[in-house]
Amino acid sequence: MALHEKDSVREKLLDDVYASSDLSVSMPKYKFPKQEHDPRHVYQVVHDELMLDGNSRQNLATFCQTWLEPEVHALMDECVDKNMIDKDEYPQTAELEARCVHMLADLWNSPDAENTLGCSTTGSSEAAMLGGMALKWNWRDRMKKLGKPIDKPNMICGPVQVCWHKFARYWDIELREIPMEKGRLIMNAEEVIKRCDENTIGVVPTLGVTFTCQYEPVKEVSDALDKLQEETGLDIPIHVDGASGGFIAPFVDPDLEWDFRLPRVKSINASGHKYGLAPLGVGWIMWRNPEDLPKDLIFNVNYLGGDMPTFALNFSRPGGQVVAQYYNFLRLGREGYRKIHQACYDTAQAVSKKLGEMGPFEIIYDGKGGIPALSWSLKEGVDHGFTLYDLSDRLRSRGWQVAAYSMPANREDLVIMRILIRHGVSRDLGDLLLADMQRSLDYFKRNPVTTPLTEVEAGGYSHGK
Ligand SMILES: *Cc1c(COP(=O)(O)O)cnc(C)c1O
Repeated sequence: MALHEKDSVREKLLDDVYASSDLSVSMPKYKFPKQEHDPRHVYQVVHDELMLDGNSRQNLATFCQTWLEPEVHALMDECVDKNMIDKDEYPQTAELEARCVHMLADLWNSPDAENTLGCSTTGSSEAAMLGGMALKWNWRDRMKKLGKPIDKPNMICGPVQVCWHKFARYWDIELREIPMEKGRLIMNAEEVIKRCDENTIGVVPTLGVTFTCQYEPVKEVSDALDKLQEETGLDIPIHVDGASGGFIAPFVDPDLEWDFRLPRVKSINASGHKYGLAPLGVGWIMWRNPEDLPKDLIFNVNYLGGDMPTFALNFSRPGGQVVAQYYNFLRLGREGYRKIHQACYDTAQAVSKKLGEMGPFEIIYDGKGGIPALSWSLKEGVDHGFTLYDLSDRLRSRGWQVAAYSMPANREDLVIMRILIRHGVSRDLGDLLLADMQRSLDYFKRNPVTTPLTEVEAGGYSHGK
């Protein structure tokens, strides 16, 4: 360094990040940047921009984890460089995935947990795609053996998450989605049986419907399908979408029969990153018996020195989430999961009770018979001076994100609000929300809304988040 440069060098060293040359001009937004920037400066710019996302802990619209133990953060950091697909290179990460599969087979009462087939995925959407494909392949094989046409497959479900609409569209399957009625917002056995025929690849009940959070009656549907088989010979399998409930019911409602205890349940998906309490990016799919997963869907990848069977849509995928899932299983066990989820139910039911007492709300789901959550609508036949979209908007001014949305067919007339109570949403946080809810009602009393917000203006929440 030349002596005459000492001042400019010192300037660089001592620059406060906000007084730096990078932060006193605007950063490139849409054109690829020409030059490099100081990492400290760029970090601050990106970090600050993310403040506008709000606080995920106050996002009560999501089913996904927003609080994680420090040990999970540490493991995620240690695994940031691990690719789940490189099972030969990271054999121990692969081993942890295999252990999780066995543990889930045990948790979901597989008759032969040692030999159950399953794998991790990026979430329930990928898992649903894999489960749905197995249903379609198996149906096609059955029909081919009978010498029957294979051009009109259908699938029966209640009000499903959007991933099943995708599955049906991508794989050319007629989705027989049972519409909601007044007084019935989920599937029942009678409505399922009405829609069954020889082209039905499977029935998909949801354990924790995204719209209302209720459990669909898997056993009732399974029993009805048994009866249908006795009467007609039609043998229709069940896949359970247990995105949320798959990680709740085994701990809190161990006597509820929804899983592999029912022989007709051939496969189950669940989201590790929802009530499995893992960080974002992991789901699971399990088959009851090896023969429920058609062989020709499995690829034996001879790559990077090993011969590995895989069934997945992605190739490369981060390994940290699976490692963190294994950590959770060990850390919590059945007891730990039960305690966490039970605390959430208690909070959901307490909030639901107080919300019902406020006056204008009709409780639709009070946190009993489904996942830890609640949903409500505005009482009918009253001019409240606001809509639930206005209320959602108002709550945002205190940082809360509460979903308001209209129901699917045939209850498009019904607009509801829903909050998820999950790990990290404490009773105190619930009380703070209730206080802000009351503050909002008082505000609307003083200032009735003259032009109510529409669903689109309110941001168009997707119900399935
Ligand atoms: C969230 C959800 C999905 C989609 O799961 P991802 O893990 O977000 O891909 C599917 N089905 C149900 C019932 C859900 O709640």
